[in-house]
Amino acid sequence: MKRTKLVNHLNELLKPFQINDYCPNGLQVEGKDTIKKLVTGVTASQALIDAAIEKGADAIVVHHGYFWKGEDQTVTGMKKRRLQALLKHDVSLFAYHLPLDVHPELGNNAQLGELLGISIERPLEPWNKSSVAVKGKLSQPITVEAFAALIEEKLGRSPLINKAGDHLIQTVAWCTGGGQSFIDLAASQGIDAYLTGEASEQTIHSSNEQNIHFFAAGHHATERYGVKALGEYLAEQFKLDVEFIDINNPV
Ligand SMILES: [Zn+2]
Repeated sequence: MKRTKLVNHLNELLKPFQINDYCPNGLQVEGKDTIKKLVTGVTASQALIDAAIEKGADAIVVHHGYFWKGEDQTVTGMKKRRLQALLKHDVSLFAYHLPLDVHPELGNNAQLGELLGISIERPLEPWNKSSVAVKGKLSQPITVEAFAALIEEKLGRSPLINKAGDHLIQTVAWCTGGGQSFIDLAASQGIDAYLTGEASEQTIHSSNEQNIHFFAAGHHATERYGVKALGEYLAEQFKLDVEFIDINNPV
């Protein structure tokens, strides 16, 4: 398919213009005009680029791209090597950050919720149009240990757990990636447990002092599923050859 058609379709689907973000969303690096093979992955790291080139990809779609607000604007070192590899092989890079967290079906939060059997009831900040964290409910109350086991089974890694009290878990708030700062908001809404990718030192105090169980299941591990679902959607919609490449990251 034509690259321009894919750009337009993705922008219509994910509506990046509706969200305040820290990076440009959409086509970040322009490659060849026609796309047959597409690789998806969490982060546009050198390892993902090299793997995509090896597979003969014409374009890469990621959740974490480049050109973050506040980053060094020069094209040197690691950034030079990444861009050089893309440009040399005429490979396009598409990146969708927050728009891919919040999409109601293909988004990271929706996909993680589906994987764990928690349906989204509403955003954690209904007043904020760019809100990423969400709130939902398990079909029945379960123990902290059972919820941790469920995460480990579905994500293939054991989460960091902070048990804060004896209560069971039924209501859950979550935000994939580095969403640990939302724990206080979740606690203020009386939610049983908060799940995200990463933890900070103060997250544990927030958890303990506000009786909200906390789980950090990995930034990478919680954000595999949105871009993977997006790739599967594109494969079906446009008969593209799409491959998800998981470059392991322990964080
Ligand atoms: Zn992220």
